[in-house]
Amino acid sequence: MKISENIPISKLTTMRLGGNARYVIEVTSEEDVPKAYLFATEHNLPVYVLGYGSNIIGRDGGFDGVIIVNKIKGMGVYAEEENGRIQLYSNSGEMLDDFVQYSTKMGFSGMEALSAIPGTVGAAPVQNVGAYGQDIGQTLVFVRAYDTLLEDYVELMKIDLDLSYRHSIFNSGKTVGRYFITKIVVELKRGELKPPFYNSLQKYLEDNNITEYSPETIRKAVRAVRESKLPDPEEIASSGSFFKNVYLTKPEEIAAAKARGIPVWDGGKIPSGWLIENAGLKGQVFHGMKVSDKASLVLINESAQNYSDLAAAREEIIEKVREKYGYTLEQEPMELGK
Ligand SMILES: Cc1cc2nc3c(=O)[nH]c(=O)nc-3n(C[C@H](O)[C@H](O)[C@H](O)COP(=O)(O)OP(=O)(O)OC[C@H]3O[C@@H](n4cnc5c(N)ncnc54)[C@H](O)[C@@H]3O)c2cc1C
Repeated sequence: MKISENIPISKLTTMRLGGNARYVIEVTSEEDVPKAYLFATEHNLPVYVLGYGSNIIGRDGGFDGVIIVNKIKGMGVYAEEENGRIQLYSNSGEMLDDFVQYSTKMGFSGMEALSAIPGTVGAAPVQNVGAYGQDIGQTLVFVRAYDTLLEDYVELMKIDLDLSYRHSIFNSGKTVGRYFITKIVVELKRGELKPPFYNSLQKYLEDNNITEYSPETIRKAVRAVRESKLPDPEEIASSGSFFKNVYLTKPEEIAAAKARGIPVWDGGKIPSGWLIENAGLKGQVFHGMKVSDKASLVLINESAQNYSDLAAAREEIIEKVREKYGYTLEQEPMELGK
């Protein structure tokens, strides 16, 4: 367990903004986790858990508390293959993409569409990460976590997690901050996948005459599609999708949107990227934050100096979309600090 003091949150997060955190503790084993919380209690400080920092934006005032950075590594077979099904585990500090690669190399499907999503395995259930028609909830069996209330390790079955689009007990309600996830177990199937796949993925397969649908092939295709559109957080500062999609529930609202030529998918979802692009904002730079010219939902930190630049950019984008379409966009990544 490594303890450091006064570390900039900008160095721990992919948007690369934010003031100092008072303490940062790196944990590398399950034994470290209660010790890190004890350190925070003894210093009377709040705790925030970080993985790779790709869905968190640091604020300028910093965090007067303890950030626990998860580096608990290891993955393998949890329950041997039976009738074409296998259970694999990964400790939570592994990168999700490495776990996906491990599963597809073994020939198992269920996570291949999650290839190249930045971040750790432990953060995947927090917002039920998803892409190209898959989400982690579809294959998850249970998570193992340190429960800060019981001060003990617990196993939480998928049904206990209340998973839905970008939602779980870990990011909503009274349970926020209660658990430190240390391990997940997923159940996967052996064998080829069946088309049709998610729109852009299907198009890539057709354009490249790919007709073999092994988990490895689909993983490669997903990576290629993502690489053509999404920034690599190791090179370009961003938090991926910056705004949530707009969801309409009332039939009259859906009908009104369609009548105006606005796309409404899956019975109520308006892709926010479409709204931003059609408000003429694609490629534009606001206060050093660029609306990506490859994927309008992504904001890139080109030269923003601090969180207030990002906040000013966000308000201008929201206002322009509201002016043109009447919908108010909401930010997707969470924020840390004051
Ligand atoms: C370029 C880019 C593309 C992206 N594409 C997608 C996409 O296609 N689909 C998608 O769903 N997301 C996407 N994201 C968002 C991001 O990859 C996910 O939210 C990912 O799960 C974040 O992982 P992380 O380790 O970086 O989590 P962090 O940003 O470090 O943390 C995210 C949240 O999880 C909590 N947390 C982290 N680890 C633990 C743990 N062990 N126990 C308890 N809580 C924990 C944190 O406290 C925080 O609230 C993208 C991001 C980027 C930058």
